[in-house]
Amino acid sequence: MSTPLDFSYETRPVRVVFRPGGAVSATPGEAARLGLRRLLVVCGSRGEAIARLVADALGDACVGLHAGARMHVPVEVVGRAVEVARAAGADGCVAVGGGSAIGLGKAIALRTGLPLMAVPSTYSGSEMTPVWGLTEHGVKRTGRDPVVQPRSVVYDAELTLALPVPLSVTSGVNALAHAAEALYAPDASPLVSLMAEEGVQAMAGALPLVAAAPDSLEARSRALYGAWLCGACLGATTMGLHHKLCHVLGGTFGLPHAETHTVVLPYVLAYNASAAPDAITALSRALDTHDVPRALRELAGGLGAPRSLAELGLKEPDLTVATAQTVADSYANPREITANGVLGLLTAAYEGWEPRSDA
Ligand code: NAD
Repeated sequence: MSTPLDFSYETRPVRVVFRPGGAVSATPGEAARLGLRRLLVVCGSRGEAIARLVADALGDACVGLHAGARMHVPVEVVGRAVEVARAAGADGCVAVGGGSAIGLGKAIALRTGLPLMAVPSTYSGSEMTPVWGLTEHGVKRTGRDPVVQPRSVVYDAELTLALPVPLSVTSGVNALAHAAEALYAPDASPLVSLMAEEGVQAMAGALPLVAAAPDSLEARSRALYGAWLCGACLGATTMGLHHKLCHVLGGTFGLPHAETHTVVLPYVLAYNASAAPDAITALSRALDTHDVPRALRELAGGLGAPRSLAELGLKEPDLTVATAQTVADSYANPREITANGVLGLLTAAYEGWEPRSDA
């Protein structure tokens, strides 16, 4: 090793239970461990059936089910959910579903201080982070607060059996993006880097198996295991250019979250490659490739994921607007962020060109 070790590492008090069937078999016990007896279950409208199973399993420890989660956590939605939680006398929440449902649970925790539990059903990783997001007047704000970090997370691969293959693939690459950026984060540390490499290997290995056999519990478990590790990386580090770009593209142009991550990631890694050689080496090992950007693009594209921002509905004039918004804000990235560089990257991603690592 050429550079001396210099890092800080913090763990947060989160308990993780990873078990097929755990949504029903483990959630009540987790609630009891936390001393929670009056839980409000929150979910999105399409996730109600799964959330109902959790609510039923909680029995008397559940005071209601609120299926009001919406994408990007609009403040009105939060206001209503907080009223429901207060009216029910809830002493905590259980968010069941993807990043949107967990986002609502976090927003309730932020407003009320109520402890949160999470039963994720996608690979978004939100359950492992103290990061919240709220949308007001069309603008999404995010922040970090330990109060929103779920105290207990139950990973149940059976819940993910119904996750459609296209969403499984893009949600999986969304997870890979967390791990990739954690490897070159300013607050990277050896343990997080090990989790990142293992997470990428697990997820990248699992996605083709999930696509070939969506109802394989083994493949789903492997993908969810990767999602856990990648989510833990997201929670532990500061994200860079990739997450910033996806935030701009989602927030300003309404592009879909996981698909945008999937299209953009190879281009950001090509852009950052020369400035983050150790991260690229770790990703090369995890993906078993000499060309990380191309391998990622082939992995997702080969499984039917979109390959260009144009396919996602971005328009050519949006490229300069997105570039200006991206460079206006300073944030951590291994390679200097220039307007020309970002415009070049976005243009390549817009057209869906082969990603090229350049200096
Ligand atoms: P999502 O929660 O919006 O879910 C996408 C769709 O999939 C929804 O229609 C949902 O009903 C459906 N779905 C979810 N699980 C399913 C299942 N098992 N079977 C069938 N359908 C299912 O999307 P997402 O990608 O999970 O999350 C994206 C959101 O999470 C974004 O708003 C993003 O900003 C946020 N996020 C936040 C963090 C954080 O740390 N705060 C991290 C990652 C993502």
